[in-house]
Amino acid sequence: MTANNGSNGNGSNGHHGSGHNGNGRNGAAGGSRAVSFLDLITPHLELEDELVTLFRSALSHAGFIGGPMLEDFEKAFAQYCDTQYCVGVSSGTDALRFALTAAGVNPGDAVVTVPNTFIATTEAISQAGAHPEFVDVDEHTHNMNPEKLREFLERKCEIDADGKPVTRRGKRPVTAVVPVHLFGQPADMDSLCELAERYHLTVIEDACQAHGAEYYSRKEGCWKKAGSIGLAGAFSFYPGKNLGACGEAGAVTTNDEQVARTVRMLRDHGQSRKYHHEIEGYNGRLDAIQAGILKVKLSHLDRWNQQRRERASLYDSLLTVIREGVKVCVEAPFAKPIYHLYVVRVQQRDELMAKLAHEGIGTGIHYPIPLHLQRAYQHMGYKEADFPVSERLAKEIISLPMYPNLTPEQQYRVVEKIREFLSARSDAILSAA
Ligand SMILES: *Cc1c(COP(=O)(O)O)cnc(C)c1O
Repeated sequence: MTANNGSNGNGSNGHHGSGHNGNGRNGAAGGSRAVSFLDLITPHLELEDELVTLFRSALSHAGFIGGPMLEDFEKAFAQYCDTQYCVGVSSGTDALRFALTAAGVNPGDAVVTVPNTFIATTEAISQAGAHPEFVDVDEHTHNMNPEKLREFLERKCEIDADGKPVTRRGKRPVTAVVPVHLFGQPADMDSLCELAERYHLTVIEDACQAHGAEYYSRKEGCWKKAGSIGLAGAFSFYPGKNLGACGEAGAVTTNDEQVARTVRMLRDHGQSRKYHHEIEGYNGRLDAIQAGILKVKLSHLDRWNQQRRERASLYDSLLTVIREGVKVCVEAPFAKPIYHLYVVRVQQRDELMAKLAHEGIGTGIHYPIPLHLQRAYQHMGYKEADFPVSERLAKEIISLPMYPNLTPEQQYRVVEKIREFLSARSDAILSAA
C-alpha cells in the first residue's frame, strides 16, 4: 500500500489504501449500473469555471509560492477550524511531522498512536526523529481507546523524577500522543487529553480525514472542531479527502503562536526571513494555486459534509434491516463525523468484496494490515495478537462507496447486493447443517 495506490480509473487520486474501481464515475465492470468507490470528477466539473478563472489569475500574476492566495486560504481555514492559526504545507505527512517537531518532540522520544491508520502517521513520527508506540482502538468507533492509552502509560512506562513517563522497553521519554480521527469521526478527546495532561504529553491530532468533524467536549460544555483540540492539528488535502486539492497539500492548525511560527519556518528551510535560517528546515510549502483551489472548495465543504452525513444515515437505516451479518460503525455520542469513509464489518469480507466488484461496485479496505504487522516495522518486534482489536477490524472492514453526489438509487443497489450475498451465505450454511 503506497500513498498513490493506483486504482484502475482516472489517475491515482483515490484514498490511501486499496480503492477499487477507479476514481471516475463509472467503474469498468457492471456498465451503467456500476457504482464507483469515489467520484472526483463530478465536483470538479461543477466548479470548473471558478477553478479555471483562478488558474488564469495565478498565471497573470505568477505568484506561485506564498502571497495572497496562500494567506487568504490560511485565514479562511483557520476560521473554519476555530483556530487562531493555520499554516499551509505540502502534505498531511509534512503537517504531522512539522507539528510534532514544532511541539517540541525531540529525536529519541516515543510518540504514541494507533496501529490502524495510514502509515503517514508513523512515518511523520519517525521522520521527526521519534519512535512510534502503539495502543489499541475501540472496536465500535475504530479510534484510540483511552483505556489502552492509560494501560500503556501505567504498565509499559515508568515515571521519572519529573513525573514524566519513560518506556520500560527502550527507555525513551514519551512526549506526545497522536490520536487519529479515523474515517472522519473524532476520537474521545476529553479522556485522551486528560491522560495527556496528567502525564505531560503533547496532543497532536491527525485530522487528515476529519475536515469539519466536530467533537462535543463534556469538560468544556461545547462542540469543538477537529484540529482545534490538541496543541496542533494536521490536515491532508490529498485529492480524495473531504477537502481535496488538485494535487498534494496539507496544513497545520493551532492556537499556539510559537507552534505556528516554527511550522512556518520548518516548511521554508528554517527561514525567519529570506536567507536568515534560524534552524534547518524543509522544502514543505503549500503552493499558491493549490491554496486558491482549496479556498474555492472550502466554501462548499459544509454542504458536502452534510451530504455525506445524509448518505451515511441512509446506509445505516438500510443496513440495520440486514443487521445480522453487517456491523456499521458506531457514531459516538460526542462526535459529529463527516464520513470521509463509510466502513462496515462483515465476516467473509474478501468474498463480499469480490462479489461487489463483479457487480461493478467499488470498495476499499482501510486498512488491510495494521502498522505493527507491516514489514517496514518488523524491527519493532511485534507479533500477531499484540493489538487484537485492530487486527480483527483489519480482517472484517470494508469501505463502501461514499461521496456527496452518491445517489439513493446507487445506495439501494449496494445494499441489495450485500443482502443477496449474506442470504446466499446463510442458505449455504443452513443446507450444510
Ligand atoms: C491522508 C492521510 C495522511 C497523509 O496525508 P498526505 O497528504 O497524503 O501526506 C495521514 N494520516 C491519515 C489518517 C490520512 O488519512
